[in-house]
Amino acid sequence: MYPCLKISLNKIYENTKMIVDKCQEININVWGVTKVFCGHPEIAKTLQAAGVVALADSRIQNIIRLKEANLNNLVLLRIPMLSEIDAIIKYVDICAVSEITTLQALDKAAKFFNTRQQVMIMIDVGDLREGVYYDSVAQFISAWPDTNNLDIVGIGANLTCYSGVLPTIKITERLVQAAKLFKQALGLNLEIISGGNTSSLGLVWRKQMPPGINNLRLGEGLILGGLTLPEGPIAGTHQDSFILQAEIVELKCKPSVPSDEIGCDAFGNIPVFEDLGWHYRAIAAIGRQDVFPERMTPVDSTLKILGASSDHLLLGLPDNHAYRIGDIVEFTLDYVGVLNAMTSQYVAKVIDK
Ligand SMILES: *Cc1c(COP(=O)(O)O)cnc(C)c1O
Repeated sequence: MYPCLKISLNKIYENTKMIVDKCQEININVWGVTKVFCGHPEIAKTLQAAGVVALADSRIQNIIRLKEANLNNLVLLRIPMLSEIDAIIKYVDICAVSEITTLQALDKAAKFFNTRQQVMIMIDVGDLREGVYYDSVAQFISAWPDTNNLDIVGIGANLTCYSGVLPTIKITERLVQAAKLFKQALGLNLEIISGGNTSSLGLVWRKQMPPGINNLRLGEGLILGGLTLPEGPIAGTHQDSFILQAEIVELKCKPSVPSDEIGCDAFGNIPVFEDLGWHYRAIAAIGRQDVFPERMTPVDSTLKILGASSDHLLLGLPDNHAYRIGDIVEFTLDYVGVLNAMTSQYVAKVIDK
C-alpha cells in the first residue's frame, strides 16, 4: 500500500547509541522522546536497546500505547490537562508540571488511588513556553502546597521550541540555579536536572554543558541525527531513517506556467511559477493532508517538488527521465515531515530492519 513510510530501526539504533554514549561520557542520561513517531512500540524498543533510560511523550494516548506494549519508565512531557489526571496516575511514571493547581490535583488523585506520583517541575529558562519563569522560582516555592502523595524527582527546562531561544551555558545554568533554590527552600534533593532537548546537544559536543545537568530529553537527535541543530546534523549519524514512498499516477508533458488568469490555489494562496517552458510533470498520490511538501526532499535529486494540494504532489522531471506510471518515488523527511507522515492514517508504516 502507498503512500508508505519505511522506518529503519538499524539507523535509529545507530543514531541513538552514538548520542547516548556521548552523553554518558559526561554523566548525562537520555530520555527517548517518542512523540514524533506516535509512541510506535518497535521504535521505542529500539531506543531502549540503544540505552535510553526512559521513554517520554507529550500525549497520554502515546504513553498508553507504550504501556500496552509492556514498555516501562514512561514520562509525560506536556504539562497535564486537569481532565487527564486519572489517566496520568494510571499510566505515567514521571509527569512534567508547572502549576500548583496541577500538583494539588495529582496529589489528590494519587491519594484516591492509593499510590504515589513522580513529578518533574518545569522551569522556563527563557524560551517563554511552559514552566515557572526562572526569575520567579522563589515565589513559586513560597506557594508550595502541602502534598503527601507526590515525589518531586527533578526539574526540567525546554528551549528552542516557542521562541527559538538557543541553549547557551548562561541560559542552561539558570536551571542548575533553580535546583539549588529547591534544595535550600524545600530540602528537595532533585535526582534529575533535565537540561533540554536536541537543541542542547551542541553544548554536549562542544563540552560546554554546565555541571549539574544530568539528563536530556531527545527526539529529533535520535531520529534524524540533529538535522535542526544550527551547526547541522551530527557527524556520523543518519538523516534518512525514515523514507516516504509515493506512487506516480500521472506523467505528462505540460507547460510549467498556466496560460490563463489565476486566483488562489486550494489553500487560499496565490501561487507563483518558475517558467521552465514545457516539461515533464508527474503526479504522486500523496498530498498536504499527509505531509507538507516543504518537509520532503526527493531521494532522486533530479526530481523537483513543484507543489502539492491535499492529495496530489506535483513533481518536475528532467527531459531524459525514465519514470513510468506506477513507479515509486522516495523522499527523506525533516522532523515535522516525519511527524506529519506518522500521524496520517493514510500513510502505511513499514518497519525495515
Ligand atoms: C518534544 C519535546 C522534547 C524533544 O524535543 P526534540 O527537539 O525532538 O529533541 C523534549 N522536551 C519537551 C518538553 C518536549 O515537548
